[in-house]
Amino acid sequence: MAYETTAACGYELTTSGTFKEVHLPIASPRPDDIVAAVHLVGICGSDLGVYLGRHPYKRAPAVLGHEMCGHVVAVGSGVSRVRVGDHITTSAFCPCGSCSQCSGGMVNLCAGRTNLSHEDWPGCFATHVVLREPMITVLPHDMPHEQGTLVEPLSIAWHALQRPDTRPQHVAVIGAGGIGAATVLLAHRAGATKVTAIDRGVAKERLARKLGASCFLDAGDLDDRAKYTDVNADLTVVTSGHPSCLTEALELTRPRGQVVVVSYSGSDVSIPLDGFVGNEITLLTSHLAVGSEVEEIVTMLSNGLDASRLITHRFPIHDVEAAFDLLTSPEGVSAGRVVLENRLKEDLR
Ligand SMILES: [Zn+2]
Ligand SMILES: [Zn+2]
Repeated sequence: MAYETTAACGYELTTSGTFKEVHLPIASPRPDDIVAAVHLVGICGSDLGVYLGRHPYKRAPAVLGHEMCGHVVAVGSGVSRVRVGDHITTSAFCPCGSCSQCSGGMVNLCAGRTNLSHEDWPGCFATHVVLREPMITVLPHDMPHEQGTLVEPLSIAWHALQRPDTRPQHVAVIGAGGIGAATVLLAHRAGATKVTAIDRGVAKERLARKLGASCFLDAGDLDDRAKYTDVNADLTVVTSGHPSCLTEALELTRPRGQVVVVSYSGSDVSIPLDGFVGNEITLLTSHLAVGSEVEEIVTMLSNGLDASRLITHRFPIHDVEAAFDLLTSPEGVSAGRVVLENRLKEDLR
């Protein structure tokens, strides 16, 4: 198949917080490059973080987006594992492949990794994106695009659930949107027999229960707040960056239980350390995911894991601004995952 695409159309977040259409030149692929057409791309909590100026290192102007599902239109001369026409998704970063973390199988902690939507590398809010082979996961051809966009966030939740060294029976999840919703969905697969979700409002309760939470506590309700110390979770997963989240996690977790923090908080958060020490609660952190976990998620989706319930809104990609307006509105608080759709013209396929 001849490679004819030389410019992609992208949507760049500007420093004034609006999105503008930009033309992104795409040169012939370098040896390990992959050029992919984007079908569907989800808005990640980290994209929202950049939009709100709260991301630790990504800043506007940038073309955001990494939770994509698409197909390969061109590959560089050194690419061996991925072929033109393959259906793919990607991670948000490319590991260096040579540092001690990469050699030790911890590519998620690679010190030399390069990140999409950072330092002039345009992300997936575009018709096409240039990726690199180590980032790519090839998907089964019959996997629906919606599921393809969920592989990356599900793998991040799955990684968080793998961090404890024991299988928790009762998992509490603080925050039931984004990674939190994915964690609620996957907790049973990680061995939990009971899942308690903590967030605000009836829409989040409905979503959390639909995803498998057996109990929901409303963080905005004083009566529910008083019940935190009765939860006694074996594991509490913190997916909210709220300053009080570690105090809440301490209340929710049983003595000798474990707490895993997945979320960035955007600032220094104080830890009620005496409470953690006095109850021998282990504090763990979790960052991104590794390839084997991504493959496990693809297998779960292929074997019937119904994750499409995580998606609550769908916009055409040129309405990206409306999608972010929704996410930052009062209604957006109750949204699950929001995806942007490219209607690809046949001649771009
Ligand atoms: Zn993401
Ligand atoms: Zn590395």
